[in-house]
Amino acid sequence: MAFLKTVCTTSTTLGRRALSVSCVRSTTHQNGYNFELNDTQKEYQAVARKFAREEIAPVAAHYDKTNEFPHEIVKKAWTLGLNNLHIPKHCGGLEENVFNSCLILEELSWGCTGISSAINSSGLGQSPVILAGTKEQQKKYLGRLVEEPLHAAYCVTEPGTGSDVNGVKTRAEKKGDEWVLNGQKMWITNGGVANWYFVLARTNPDPKAPASKAFTGFIVERDTPGVTPGRKEINMGQRASDTRGVTFEDVRVPKENVLLGEGAGFKIAMGAFDKTRPPVACSATGLAQRALDEAAKYSLERKTFGVPIAHHQAVAFILADMAIGVETARLAWMRAAWEADSGSRNSYNASIAKAYAADVANKNATDAVQVFGGAGFNSEYPVEKLMRDAKIFQIYEGTTQIQKLVISRSIIDATKRLA
Ligand SMILES: Cc1cc2nc3c(=O)[nH]c(=O)nc-3n(C[C@H](O)[C@H](O)[C@H](O)COP(=O)(O)OP(=O)(O)OC[C@H]3O[C@@H](n4cnc5c(N)ncnc54)[C@H](O)[C@@H]3O)c2cc1C
Repeated sequence: MAFLKTVCTTSTTLGRRALSVSCVRSTTHQNGYNFELNDTQKEYQAVARKFAREEIAPVAAHYDKTNEFPHEIVKKAWTLGLNNLHIPKHCGGLEENVFNSCLILEELSWGCTGISSAINSSGLGQSPVILAGTKEQQKKYLGRLVEEPLHAAYCVTEPGTGSDVNGVKTRAEKKGDEWVLNGQKMWITNGGVANWYFVLARTNPDPKAPASKAFTGFIVERDTPGVTPGRKEINMGQRASDTRGVTFEDVRVPKENVLLGEGAGFKIAMGAFDKTRPPVACSATGLAQRALDEAAKYSLERKTFGVPIAHHQAVAFILADMAIGVETARLAWMRAAWEADSGSRNSYNASIAKAYAADVANKNATDAVQVFGGAGFNSEYPVEKLMRDAKIFQIYEGTTQIQKLVISRSIIDATKRLA
């Protein structure tokens, strides 16, 4: 846990203090807006940027082509302390805030969002345990991720249901001191590499039971008999990341592995997104920045009609639009992350950041392909991969339409309260 861990342990408090006066709309300080990062944050960024450029970007095409999981890179990132930053101190972690974790993830994602997903996606599985786990559960399951480069996964989606979480069919029945799980999960990131899973299962068989009471969240060890991950899925993009179905067949889970209590699962599963959607948004921003950087560089190298294509205003304006997207997507994730750290409910801004940054990533990747012309359509150049990698940001952790449901419901509720 070399360099970054040293920086973190010596300056985490400093980082938080500085954060409270920086970023967006502090309620406790009268200084107004301040967008300057402190020295610790700049250092986090620099370490992650170097790692992305030296360790991730050069091998991104290889992992994209081979569909392999980048075990060695993940291990290196873990050794440097570039993931798991939010694990609580009592489990041996740094208990870093969402904002600083996102600063790092945006940089890693510049290198390759498939690899940054492999490095960081464990955070989604960890979130319910951080949110609702007892000290013992946290120490046991989060602590081992600090001790070894292991992964966790978040198992909610099923073959028959994704956006409509209330449609989850995986069942858990209480038998003595154990619960017995049966069902099938689908599209699970880290499904084949996880050491343990967060699993959402229906525990109230009454179909009329409200979602807020019908489901329970469990921590399930990967090596429990009856847990079977499927084959690694061949996806359009982010191919380094491990996506699989996972089957649970008469899986016996001790009652100690229930999170919070019977019936609390839906709230826990949804609550996790408030902390994990800003990271998705920052990752999309990293991809959008990469698309802009590649397009700007190429536009100065490629000449048509006797001048670099950057000198044609139509091309220069594409770059300008891409920059507008990057800068505003970054502000959106920063706002959502800051809000998560300040302790206020951030669902509204987390959904705005996630939906917006996902669209910007897709637009910038498409624009980069346009700037590259025919070369943009070819896999020898870096931008067609960006276009394939970008699409998933509009789908996982809640589709863009689901983010718009969250945003519009907030507006309607607030308007009703005022009426
Ligand atoms: C690579 C990858 C990784 C993933 N990782 C995980 C993971 O780790 N854990 C996990 O649990 N899941 C994971 N998922 C699943 C992902 O979260 C779901 O695919 C996503 O939530 C959408 O669900 P669905 O695929 O069932 O689509 P559906 O819910 O069937 O939606 C289909 C379409 O209908 C739209 N739609 C649905 N309902 C509404 C509505 N009410 N209003 C408007 N439009 C609507 C959607 O926006 C979408 O366009 C992953 C998926 C992929 C592809």
